[in-house]
Amino acid sequence: MDMAEINVIKQHLIDPEICIRCNTCEATCPVNAITHDDRNYVVRADVCNGCMACISPCPTGSIDNWRTMPVARAYSIEEQLTWDELPAELSPEQLEAEGVATPGETLMQVPSAAPQPPAEPGEVAFNSAQYGATVPPWSAAHAYTNLFPPKSPTTATVVGNFNCTEAGYENQTHHIVLDLGSMPFPVLEGQSIAIIPPGVDANGKPHFARQYSIASPRNGERPGYNNISLTVKRVLEDHQGNPVRGVCSNYVCDLKVGDKVQVIGPFGSSFLMPNHPKSHIVMICTGTGSAPMRAMTEWRRRLRKSGKFEGGKLMLFFGARTQQELPYFGPLQTLPKDFIDINFAFSRTQGQPRRYVQDMMRERAADLVELLRDGQSHFYVCGLKSMEEGVVLALRDVATEAGLDWDTVGQSLKREGRLHLETY
Ligand SMILES: Cc1cc2nc3c(=O)[nH]c(=O)nc-3n(C[C@H](O)[C@H](O)[C@H](O)COP(=O)(O)OP(=O)(O)OC[C@H]3O[C@@H](n4cnc5c(N)ncnc54)[C@H](O)[C@@H]3O)c2cc1C
Ligand code: SF4
Ligand code: SF4
Repeated sequence: MDMAEINVIKQHLIDPEICIRCNTCEATCPVNAITHDDRNYVVRADVCNGCMACISPCPTGSIDNWRTMPVARAYSIEEQLTWDELPAELSPEQLEAEGVATPGETLMQVPSAAPQPPAEPGEVAFNSAQYGATVPPWSAAHAYTNLFPPKSPTTATVVGNFNCTEAGYENQTHHIVLDLGSMPFPVLEGQSIAIIPPGVDANGKPHFARQYSIASPRNGERPGYNNISLTVKRVLEDHQGNPVRGVCSNYVCDLKVGDKVQVIGPFGSSFLMPNHPKSHIVMICTGTGSAPMRAMTEWRRRLRKSGKFEGGKLMLFFGARTQQELPYFGPLQTLPKDFIDINFAFSRTQGQPRRYVQDMMRERAADLVELLRDGQSHFYVCGLKSMEEGVVLALRDVATEAGLDWDTVGQSLKREGRLHLETY
């Protein structure tokens, strides 16, 4: 195709007013066309090839915006990062003034993605995100999403708030219970909601919503009640360790019983648990990444209690800096050993070598490889972004060392909705 022909594109844009900054699109895009700063998620016009891979995973639909633009005037990422709302379509007159003779006639995407930075000689780049499924397990229940979109939140009432790490620890994590009253709010284990903190940011704009995984099963934190729970860590330092007071996490952790909260969601249609008999679940998490794992475990525990649990292994790899900082450490200890196989990894226990979840996975390679061989196994990874690559690499190494072809295993895990990655 002659580049000279391409004078106009359908430019792919993200609506900053409804985007909940969940990072799903950035993790999904196969050509790294999406980037973000503290405020906005944006698309590079010269890299996006219109493959549409990011459209259905986006929980809010904010990713599905397109503007007819002359290539020479395509919005730069610098411009997009300053937006509080999407610009309007250019009018036919404006397009004509830009030399676009017949608007719509020559619409096409920028023809190919910009090349990725070359890997160092001999280095094979590993991209854990490429193995993450965007489809749910075949037997997952139907997930309702976006019932309350960012512009139409619902109100929940706080009915519980307590520290679920050992008291007195700086990195405290709270277990929050929200009651939705008479408002229908159907959720499944693995889904999330987002909370809109009150007030405005430094630019005088309303705060954007922050996403939190639901920690309770589908029939409520208290069975039969229209309530959900969250596991929220107070952010008191940024990812680099500098002191900071996270806007939403501190708002949520300071909530009192009876307070009202603006909630949107539910979100998520692929990080869902299988429901068929003998399906296995392997959960790998750090810190608040335990929230969806608690929901799945609790649903299976309730099924088992009611005599409806039809087998299938549950295996948990759970990492934290110390035992005292690990959410739900106490309740986890009480679960029967024949119900769930729990492996803790602590990276900052005094006098002990640092152990991460991937170290525990390698130690349990013999059991993990059996699960990797079994098409009924489903793997869930949730926690801080920094864990994701190490965990998927550990899975790859466990498979490879047992003589399995990782590319085949990894691709079928993705295709069949059996490896889910949710890191933030
Ligand atoms: C899909 C998804 C699920 C999530 N689930 C949970 C959950 O179940 N529980 C939970 O507590 N959080 C969860 N989060 C993170 C949550 O949405 C917020 O990002 C987090 O609470 C920080 O928001 P804040 O307003 O307090 O901090 P902000 O005011 O937004 O940020 C303040 C500073 O802290 C940094 N920062 C942001 N998040 C963290 C973090 N987690 N650790 C360290 N530094 C950080 C920011 O880069 C910034 O510099 C989830 C995020 C996503 C995308
Ligand atoms: S359409 Fe494809 S290339 Fe463009 S941002 Fe989405 S995933 Fe990336
Ligand atoms: S809400 Fe959609 S557009 Fe915004 S970060 Fe998430 S996936 Fe991307």
